[in-house]
Formats: sequence, structure tokens, C-alpha cells
Amino acid sequence: MSETIFSKIIDGSIPSQKVFENERIYAFHDIQPAAPVHVLIVPKKPIPSLNEIGEEDLAVIGEIHHVAVQLAEELGIAASGYRLINNCGADGGQTVPHLHFHLLGGAKLGALTGNSASHA
Ligand code: AMP
Repeated sequence: MSETIFSKIIDGSIPSQKVFENERIYAFHDIQPAAPVHVLIVPKKPIPSLNEIGEEDLAVIGEIHHVAVQLAEELGIAASGYRLINNCGADGGQTVPHLHFHLLGGAKLGALTGNSASHA
């Protein structure tokens, strides 16, 4: 089983500001918030990235979206709007190899862009 900073957060050996937990999912405030609300929603199963999800993981992926809606409501951003993001792999900007979704809101977020390279 892979050991990442997120598995240590989930098992409590690294502290976090928890906002939700059940048997399958752990959610906590991002340590370097990119928006007034920035929560990470993580399956406890250490799936390295979205590329590695299997059919057996589809329920928890759906549940993560349901938890995101619940947290958006609790954190006061459901009506104003928010973004749920997964970064996958190096080009996607993923830095922690344990699947996670960023819930961002609380301010008008910038337009989604790729990089500055030409795609012509
Ligand atoms: P990503 O770049 O998509 O892999 O996202 C990883 C996120 O984890 C970044 O937004 C980091 O700020 C966040 N992060 C890293 N270490 C911690 C930590 N100890 N507690 C909370 N968030 C963290």
C-alpha cells in the first residue's frame, strides 16, 4: 500500500483541519488555499490518480461528489457557486499521488485555462 502525505493525514499521524469523515472518505482544508474555501476530498483507499480508478471505485467517486455538495452547503458556497477539480498526473498539476478532489469557492474564480503554449 502506498504511503503518501494524505494517507498519513487520514490515519491521523499528520494533523489536518478535518471537515468530513466517514468509512470511505476524508475531507480537510488545504494547507495552501487557492480560494477563500479550499477543501480536499479524498477517498481513504490510496488510489494513486484518476487513471487508476476501477469499476469497484465508481461508488466512492460518486459519493465524493455528493460530499462536495454537502460541504459546499455547509461552508456557505452552494448558492454562490464553486468548482470541483481533480488534477491528474504531471501535466495536470497533480503533486500528491493519492486521488483527491479540490473544492474551491468563496470568490469569483478565474477562467479555466490550459498553459500558455500554443495549441495551433
Ligand atoms: P494536487 O496539486 O492536485 O496534487 O494537490 C495537492 C494539494 O495538497 C495542494 O493544494 C497542497 O496545498 C495540499 N497539501 C499538501 N500537503 C498538505 C497538508 N499537509 N495539509 C493540507 N493540504 C496539503
